[in-house]
Amino acid sequence: MIINGKTRTCGLIGKPVEHTMSPLIHNTLAGKLGLPLVYVPFLVEEDVEAAVRGAWHLNVLGMNVTVPYKSEVIAALSECDELAARIGAVNTLVRGNKGFKGYNTDISGLFRAMSSEGIRIEGEEIILLGAGGAARAVAYLLASHKAKKVYLMNRSLPRAEQVADEVNTAFGRVGIQAMELSAYSSLPERPMLCIQATSVGLAPEVDRVVIEEDAFYRRIHTGYDLIYRPANTRFMQLVRAHGGKAYHGLKMLLYQGVEAFELWNQIKVEEGLALEVYERMKEAMGIEE
Ligand code: NAP
Repeated sequence: MIINGKTRTCGLIGKPVEHTMSPLIHNTLAGKLGLPLVYVPFLVEEDVEAAVRGAWHLNVLGMNVTVPYKSEVIAALSECDELAARIGAVNTLVRGNKGFKGYNTDISGLFRAMSSEGIRIEGEEIILLGAGGAARAVAYLLASHKAKKVYLMNRSLPRAEQVADEVNTAFGRVGIQAMELSAYSSLPERPMLCIQATSVGLAPEVDRVVIEEDAFYRRIHTGYDLIYRPANTRFMQLVRAHGGKAYHGLKMLLYQGVEAFELWNQIKVEEGLALEVYERMKEAMGIEE
């Protein structure tokens, strides 16, 4: 790649940033499309607002934001997309005239990843495991795409109730029902889509899963785990062992990057190119499938 006076910079801010896959996504896309853009990780130890202001003054084209700054960064923006503001989490910053505008492409990326696998949300009954930052964003996605009913199951019931109340109020209907994990036997008997959005099962604790019981997995026709390290979680293994289809979260990561890249460059990335990048991500992670 030739870096010259016309090269634009994009990057990731977070703590830590050492293991990120985002430079691979964006530098591959820029290289394949011949765009003069480089993407680098920026470790922000503290004061994310100063980091964002500095990036804008340095003419940075766009940023991704990761843990622990997805909420804190909102205070440093000149504008925020409506859904991202409702969710209270931003992972993509797009340069504007007076500052950066914030978006949440984690969630639009998850939708694109699910759609690419032919997974439907509209009119479906869906189990959502977790009530943390990621699950909360997924609850908004499911409500905004008109899921018929969402069973929001979490270890801590008050946290699940808080998310359910908030999303039900935002959408003016009682589509989300909060439940404790242990109450799975009261779920309907029909097989459903289940989205695993807890951090249980993440490497290195790869043998863990929030629910072990067979009776739970008999209710799942498709399991979607947001975790991608490992690429075959215990949750996915249990779904498959009971005859269901299972997916990991690497495509969600791919499409959150693709959507950010599209916003920065005001282009549409062809599906074939996105899948080429996905092959490189799988290679980097040693995933064969
Ligand atoms: P978070 O805010 O820390 O929430 C953690 C969730 O896991 C909570 O619901 C928590 O339940 C639950 N949990 C933790 N330990 C548990 C245990 N021992 N037993 C039962 N439940 C437990 O985390 P997050 O930001 O939402 O992230 C969740 C997962 O999504 C992570 O694994 C992350 O890697 C993944 N993610 C993937 C992508 C992607 O691009 N693929 C993007 C974003 C996130 P309590 O409320 O009861 O504590």
